Amino acid sequence: MQTLTVELPDRHYPIHVGPGLLDDASLLTPHLAGRQVMIVTNEVVAPLYLERLKATLAGHDVHEVVLPDGEATKNLEHVERIWDALLAAGFNRRATLIALGGGVTGDMTGFAAACYQRGIAFIQIPTTLLAQVDSSVGGKTGVNHPRGKNMIGAFHQPRAVIVDTDTLKTLPARELTAGLAEVIKYGLIRDEAFMTWLETSMTGLRSLDAALLTEAILKSCAVKAKIVVEDETEQGVRAYLNLGHTFGHAIETAMGYGNWLHGEAVGTGMMMATALSHRLGWLDEAAVKRVAMLLEAAGLPRHAPASVSAERFLELMHLDKKVMDARLRLVLLKAFGDACITDDVDEGQVHDLLEHWER
Ligand code: NAD
Ligand code: MG
Repeated sequence: MQTLTVELPDRHYPIHVGPGLLDDASLLTPHLAGRQVMIVTNEVVAPLYLERLKATLAGHDVHEVVLPDGEATKNLEHVERIWDALLAAGFNRRATLIALGGGVTGDMTGFAAACYQRGIAFIQIPTTLLAQVDSSVGGKTGVNHPRGKNMIGAFHQPRAVIVDTDTLKTLPARELTAGLAEVIKYGLIRDEAFMTWLETSMTGLRSLDAALLTEAILKSCAVKAKIVVEDETEQGVRAYLNLGHTFGHAIETAMGYGNWLHGEAVGTGMMMATALSHRLGWLDEAAVKRVAMLLEAAGLPRHAPASVSAERFLELMHLDKKVMDARLRLVLLKAFGDACITDDVDEGQVHDLLEHWER
């Protein structure tokens, strides 16, 4: 097991990463606010891991909420179910919520914890790679609104994050690959050495080598935590975390959510951002090849959906929430490990790039 400590202005919390951690009571119990514990999970994850977690918590007053699966359930109605369960169990302010599942479960549970009696303790046990390297770090919690994704939410930091790398053994391969897109992103925006390490480790990561997974998850969390602390108000460097996302969101929207996984769209988006950085003279040909090979090694797509024309693509990019004053605002790469934000890109050039992109 390895541990990263996330330093916040007023306190700190651990991210423990390694195989078999789900059974380790000594990692969990120090972070429980009292005896009352509510585990929130979903119908897919519960049959896999709920009983084991409950066994680990033996001796506590443990209740559970098992929600339906899917992004479409990330709404107030399902958060309300968590509050109902807390009230029905007679849980007070010293109760602890535990999120056991992917980013959907984590986001909803964190938000439920932020609001229940004006804020109770919560612990994240993320079970998808995306949740382990991205959504469980940074303190953003919330739900979707019919008018927009993640529109209702709060900042609420966990007491601890416990990542059992063994849980990835049951994760569909496509979900693992989607999570790898965000891992690669951290290398590209902040850490060329990590990128080089990923190039040699990708095969091992995809075959779920526990030591390599531990390393990759810890490194990813460290990059994200550092960026989040540097930029709590989201004025500057936090935007680097959106590398590939403006292109990616256009793909997600065009294809309908769920057809391309978020990470898959981000993979193609990062390739586009890399290619544009090359056109601007920042990255050379060899650098573009390296990114292409790394994405391919991760199993990520690089082509654009055939049905989306360059015009439609640009239109959708303009709808992205990071577009300010009608100008495209893009995260690009000056070099590996050195991202930048620019709203000074010639749209004709982006159009040309998209028009000639492999479909
Ligand atoms: P998800 O939670 O829907 O999980 C993906 C699928 O895997 C689901 O069907 C889930 O039930 C299943 N699953 C989870 N763990 C499993 C396991 N170990 N074995 C088998 N199946 C398993 O999706 P996700 O990709 O984990 O998270 C996406 C969500 O995270 C989105 O709602 C997104 O908005 C959010 N997010 C939040 C932040 C943040 O900062 N809070 C950052 C990035 C993403
Ligand atoms: Mg993302």
